[in-house]
Amino acid sequence: MNRKSRCVHCRRFFVENPRVKNQSYCRRRACQRARKSRWQRHKMATDADYQKNQKESQRIWQQQHPHYWRNYRQNHPDYCERNRQLQKVRDAKRRAQRLAKMDALKQLKPIIPGTYYLIPQLKNLAKMDALTQKINVIPVGYQHFDASCKKGLDRPHQAFAIHAHLKEGAP
Ligand SMILES: [Zn+2]
Repeated sequence: MNRKSRCVHCRRFFVENPRVKNQSYCRRRACQRARKSRWQRHKMATDADYQKNQKESQRIWQQQHPHYWRNYRQNHPDYCERNRQLQKVRDAKRRAQRLAKMDALKQLKPIIPGTYYLIPQLKNLAKMDALTQKINVIPVGYQHFDASCKKGLDRPHQAFAIHAHLKEGAP
């Protein structure tokens, strides 16, 4: 009796060809095409020589058909739109990864060990929130300390500053 199995591409049952070992695709053209492209993807990923030959023949084909892809894009606006949308998704993913990395780096920003002067920034004292306080930390040994002190230490390139939020009553 002929064995039946289910095609992994179209999910329909088919009668296996006894001469084909481990047959998992039916004879339909679309399914055979899917089988071939799966085989090619696998081969490209695992066989360096095959990959090299494929790339070389693609290069030669492209030289012989220089306008193929431009024409294809002109005649298939839906293909272009799909690519644009996929690119947007890739861009958004990349942006999110970069932001996550930057956040991680910010958290690692070191506070150099040492003794620090703690100086209230006068312009902020009046509008200071009841629960939070802003603290600028200026390391001892800061070269233009006196001059900056008079200017209010509000220029970022002149002062090494961190901003900390403290709960009222914290030591
Ligand atoms: Zn099938």
